[in-house]
Amino acid sequence: MKVVKFGGSSLADGPQFEKVISIMKADPERQVIITSAPGKRHDGDIKVTDLLIKYAQLTIKHADTSKIFNQIFSRYQSIGDYFGLTEDALAPIWHALSELPTTDYPDDDYLMAAFKAHGERLNARLMATVMTHLGLKARFVDPKEAGIIVSDEPNNATVLPETYTHLAHIDVDDTILVFPGFFGFTPNGQIATFSRGGSDITGAIVARGLKADLYENFTDVDAIYAANPKLVDHPLAIHRMTYREMRELSYAGFSVFHDEAIIPAIQGEIPINVKNTNRPDLPGTLIVPEKDFKPAQTITGVASSTRFAALYLHRYLLNKEVGFTLKLLQVFKKYNVSYEHMPSGIDDLTVIFDKTQFDEDTIHNMCHDIREVLQPDTLEWIDDYAIIMVVGEGMRNKVGVIEQIIQPLAQHDIGVHMINQGASRISIMLGTRRADAEEAVKSIYNAFFSSEPVKN
Ligand code: ASP
Repeated sequence: MKVVKFGGSSLADGPQFEKVISIMKADPERQVIITSAPGKRHDGDIKVTDLLIKYAQLTIKHADTSKIFNQIFSRYQSIGDYFGLTEDALAPIWHALSELPTTDYPDDDYLMAAFKAHGERLNARLMATVMTHLGLKARFVDPKEAGIIVSDEPNNATVLPETYTHLAHIDVDDTILVFPGFFGFTPNGQIATFSRGGSDITGAIVARGLKADLYENFTDVDAIYAANPKLVDHPLAIHRMTYREMRELSYAGFSVFHDEAIIPAIQGEIPINVKNTNRPDLPGTLIVPEKDFKPAQTITGVASSTRFAALYLHRYLLNKEVGFTLKLLQVFKKYNVSYEHMPSGIDDLTVIFDKTQFDEDTIHNMCHDIREVLQPDTLEWIDDYAIIMVVGEGMRNKVGVIEQIIQPLAQHDIGVHMINQGASRISIMLGTRRADAEEAVKSIYNAFFSSEPVKN
């Protein structure tokens, strides 16, 4: 049995719905479908999730919502119209959307989550209605009914383990089950969403819970590439890679697949096949456990991300001082801040953060507390920070890879501020200035791939 997830661009309008339905019909093993909210139909279009965020913001401000309401409903209506659905068939969508502002929520964060979740919730309902209208056996399955239980973090939830026990009770027969992606219910029965792009996570959870043989993830690219096609001209498509390679690359900017979505697949050992809705016959990229993988070349991919910032601390004899890091971590905890990496020297420490979690005040106050508590000789907040991630199972048993990485950077006059080899030995992370990140990716890609065979 296959669990099949479709991204927002695959479900953006009637013709895209039609492609999705023919993909589902083409293989009887495809028994479960996970929907995103309708995405962009063309450049400059707005995703329904973003329209719902606006709807929530206007509701919070008690402002007029009629225009945004119509804009959202018309997205579903035009899909319904494409298939000739009646007004009555679309009425539940209209009602659900119009009831959102008058429902009770514990606070505005939960209100926001509930509004956002309806992008997928209504799209899944619509998909089940359209499929039934076309004579297929299909049924909408709400996460409440399925028992997808998530943590009490309204807009950044994580799945709770009891979900898998609940999913195991669902019967998969000859009816296509249509699940909405992106959200679950907290133990108190409130809607909470995963982070943005989180329908991938639902797909992986459902695939694990139902013990699928394959998790197919349909999007709008032919495959995952060894480097970002916006940076490198016609990069090589990766046909096969491991879960942890995918995780490291998506962490550092490969946006095709959500990095958190790999975890349930790893736990259930379910292979993931990333494919293109617009060219479903292409093989796409298969993501598999390490035991099913033999590296054909040294690196699998190279990525860069500029969503990082660093804190540099210097104090003599830092290496001898018991509790220095503990005090630092206590300050992070006070500000509810998580850190990504912490490379250190005898008198120095750099902490690398995901800077999307900060606002200016938090940075200011946190640095003030660190100065007070730790009395560093130097404290520097470095906003101009990018991380380059070079990833490959093939690096593990190879000597001299670091030289192959550094040489092209030196040739392009790119300074490296930090090097960190992951404990798994399948990734090397480099810190550079933001302005150097793109050139760094291009030169590393060229160094490895212009002379290596195509990976299969
Ligand atoms: N619709 C949600 C978003 O735009 C989730 C998803 O598409 O995966 O983030």
